[in-house]
Amino acid sequence: MTTMADKHESESPTLLEWAEVEKYIKRAKDAFEPYRQSSVQQRIGFLRQIAHEISAIRTDLIETSHGETHLPEGRLSGEIDRTINQIHLFAGVLEEGSWVNAIIDTADPQRAPVPKPDIRQMQRPLGPVCVYGASNFPFAFSVAGGDTISALSAGCPVLYKVHEGHPQTSLLVGGCIERAARQTGMPDGVFASLMVARDVGVQVVTHPSVTAVAFTGSFLGGKALYDAAAKRPVPIPVYAEMGSINPVFLLPDRLKLHAEATAAALVASNTLGAGQFCTNPGLMVLLQSPDTEHFLSMYGKQLAEQTCHAMLTPGIHRAYSAGVERLKSMVELSTLGEGKKMESANAAVPVAFRVSGSDFLGNSALQEEYFGPASIHVVAEDRAQLLEIAEALDGQLTCGVWCTDTDIDSFGPLFQRLEQKAGRLIINGAPTGVEVCHAMVHGGPFPATTDTRSTSVGTQAIYRFTRPVSYQNYPDRLLPAELRNGNEAGIWRKVDGELTRKSR
Ligand code: NAP
Repeated sequence: MTTMADKHESESPTLLEWAEVEKYIKRAKDAFEPYRQSSVQQRIGFLRQIAHEISAIRTDLIETSHGETHLPEGRLSGEIDRTINQIHLFAGVLEEGSWVNAIIDTADPQRAPVPKPDIRQMQRPLGPVCVYGASNFPFAFSVAGGDTISALSAGCPVLYKVHEGHPQTSLLVGGCIERAARQTGMPDGVFASLMVARDVGVQVVTHPSVTAVAFTGSFLGGKALYDAAAKRPVPIPVYAEMGSINPVFLLPDRLKLHAEATAAALVASNTLGAGQFCTNPGLMVLLQSPDTEHFLSMYGKQLAEQTCHAMLTPGIHRAYSAGVERLKSMVELSTLGEGKKMESANAAVPVAFRVSGSDFLGNSALQEEYFGPASIHVVAEDRAQLLEIAEALDGQLTCGVWCTDTDIDSFGPLFQRLEQKAGRLIINGAPTGVEVCHAMVHGGPFPATTDTRSTSVGTQAIYRFTRPVSYQNYPDRLLPAELRNGNEAGIWRKVDGELTRKSR
């Protein structure tokens, strides 16, 4: 029997030539003006129709993506729910309206010595956005994922670069967006799904009509696109979400009281989805003690019980296996535990290593991401060294601390240091499982991302694709609806320094 995976591996998708891609870019450019002028209600209708179209082919989507990615059907079904909820969340943001950050400073013609002009500000869309989908989330970080939906919500057409790990799934979801666009009267070119070779993808990023880039993937891929964009005559923002080892600090009182439960939670988080999450906890930092030894032995034992399914692509499996071999060859590391090997091709074997604090501090390779179910446990010799390790960390998506109130009282400086290192700080919780909500930050200092001021998950992601515009002395009829005196939609605005929903 030929499975979807066999089919995928035996069929090479047809890649678009540059001349065809240029036509899509031109269409996206032409679509920008009518799309940004479309009413909020029209855009909400478009978003909700995308969600509806995805729901309608849910069974096909699960079957196809399971064949292409090897991810379990339950996980894929949950990811479709997340994708649909994410779309509705953004539609709700547009409906509520205050996301545009409307600010009105009214005129004071009597002010001396110079009269004060009427100045009004709000966020406006940038233009066509190029989105690079992720391998590890075929739905939530792919064609109709957070990047695409936040860009469309902002009023920007999207040129989507398909990930070679799930081309058929991408085609199906791309079809959903295209149908939704037609059914809701969106301009031709508001969305295009591009199956292109790597060099053509780079040409899209450097094309003059492209105004921003969103990417999720490896450090090398994200940095290559960032560097390519930096060479453009006209610079544009590149929001690349790249590697992170998501350090977790395990404090002494917590380990004294809950070593076993903490080990179970972290083993589960590290091996979830064969470790293929950008928030995977890949680095644990502990303080030398008998309780730490107990925790490490629990972790090793629990890891030995774990198996993992096949990884997303043979390339990701090769990179993981080579990374683990490299770690095994380092004399300063010892193996703490290893999971079971699976017969199936490309299945990841979970593994945990131990290293001393001083050896960790002396080897920067131990801060690299080993994408998969691997972890390195650093045992610090004292508090000063534990803080030194926190200080030496690169930028991260998340940093976690497992602690009790007693630990919090005695490790205050640790929390201060970690705030400088990550976009999301977590106490007594696994980093995997990123809530899609208004307050989420899925970002962080370089090298976790190329722009530490932004998030790629949650509703604040919309601001990556907008810029503030001030209108000075504009007559009411020339202003965008959100800034007009009447405030017909009744959105929250800051008028002369006060938040209000009133008209003025
Ligand atoms: P990737 O190799 O970075 O590929 C992601 C996308 O970027 C693909 O569309 C790829 O195009 C493109 N790309 C890669 N290198 C490029 C370059 N030098 N120039 C231009 N485009 C480039 O990531 P992946 O295939 O998804 O996974 C590989 C590794 O990425 C993993 O082992 C892991 O380390 C990391 N990863 C990280 C995250 C995260 O969230 N941080 C998520 C997934 C993966 P082509 O397909 O044409 O090469």
